[in-house]
Amino acid sequence: MSSVPFSENIRKLKPSATMAVSALAKRLAAEGRDILDLSAGEPDFDTPAFVRDAAIRGIQSGQTRYTPPAGTPALRKAIAARLSERAGRDMHWEGVVVTSGAKQALFNAMFALFGPGDEVLVPAPYWTTYPDLATIARAEPVIVMGDAARSFKIGPDDLDRAATPRTRGLVLNSPCNPTGAVYSLAEVQAIAEWARDRGVWLLSDEIYRAIYYGAEGDHAPGLIELPPSSLGHFVLVDGASKAFAMTGWRIGFTWADPEVSKQFAALQSQITSNPTTPAQVAALEAYSNVAAADASVSQMARAFRRRRDLVTARLRELLPGVPFVRPEGAFYLYFRVDGFFGADVQSATAWCSRLLESQGVALVPGAAFGDDRWVRMSYAAADEVLERALGRIAAHAGARSATQVSAAATR
Ligand code: PMP
Ligand code: GLU
Repeated sequence: MSSVPFSENIRKLKPSATMAVSALAKRLAAEGRDILDLSAGEPDFDTPAFVRDAAIRGIQSGQTRYTPPAGTPALRKAIAARLSERAGRDMHWEGVVVTSGAKQALFNAMFALFGPGDEVLVPAPYWTTYPDLATIARAEPVIVMGDAARSFKIGPDDLDRAATPRTRGLVLNSPCNPTGAVYSLAEVQAIAEWARDRGVWLLSDEIYRAIYYGAEGDHAPGLIELPPSSLGHFVLVDGASKAFAMTGWRIGFTWADPEVSKQFAALQSQITSNPTTPAQVAALEAYSNVAAADASVSQMARAFRRRRDLVTARLRELLPGVPFVRPEGAFYLYFRVDGFFGADVQSATAWCSRLLESQGVALVPGAAFGDDRWVRMSYAAADEVLERALGRIAAHAGARSATQVSAAATR
């Protein structure tokens, strides 16, 4: 196949690394191996019953045909109403484009806004898909590495160092996948104003906004809570996947200026048309039945917070001194493993492969996020699975440290 002359569009294309680890873990489990899969970034909860029931009713009542490419007006209005509530001003419903997952929302934005010759700033560690989407648009992703001492959060100084006259875009992801770091509203504001002042498009991926460990019931600070004067050109990306445990339904959205949204919808009309209609019916319930939605989001966020506390406490206990980012949102624990490398294991990729082979625990190596000394563990799993997995990770790390010690002793 290597001789197939694929187009320039996908010359640098790689499959999603997070998806690849999760597919491998699923395959090994299907073969009968005892696998603890902490690779996939998806809530382990079922989609709430009130949402599932609405979808079933929708299908039974014949809501199974095409909708407008940008989604049904009812769903776009319901999403806009929730955004307006948050922003404290009217977020016009024609600014909403409903997409097949937040991934397509990001694709629409990157592909419509960036192209050859453009640079897109991607703070690192980054969610694996951002640089690849910029590359698919034939733009150049420019990685801006954060400082571990600040939970890898970047600020205007870092952006100043990375920007060039070709900088056209910047991706912000808070709460962050893979670190769980959350930018304060003041930090979001500083970045938004930086982008505004330089005429750079700000793509704010807030898909984990509802999974936040600040005050109970609160959501992580987001772009549209800023005064409009702080905002230049921006695209808000969000969706139902994480907040409502709806990863398989494939519903995301963008909010942008309605003129910009028209182009996103035009692009989508040529590629996928509308997101599946029954999934839109389900999402309409999730965005309009506010009381039920808020109750289920709070319940899930509470469970994730408890697990955050569990995994951070156990990591400290089992692997004292191992650097990690204390998550303030999302459901990932990002920790550093190069202290366990040895002659035959010199990357987190190799370390994770050995861990999967010998202990049956699937983590995602930091190569997927821009630094292959770190690993990401998803704690969207039952307490008992997390306990067992951490025990096995510690055994693996301990075994490796012991090999290093004995190798050193015999040298
Ligand atoms: N952004 C981030 C930061 C994510 O972790 C994910 C998870 N896949 C997405 C976007 C895409 O979400 P979706 O499943 O709705 O496409
Ligand atoms: N966002 C999730 C993750 O980072 C799902 C996988 C993906 O969409 O790449 O694992």
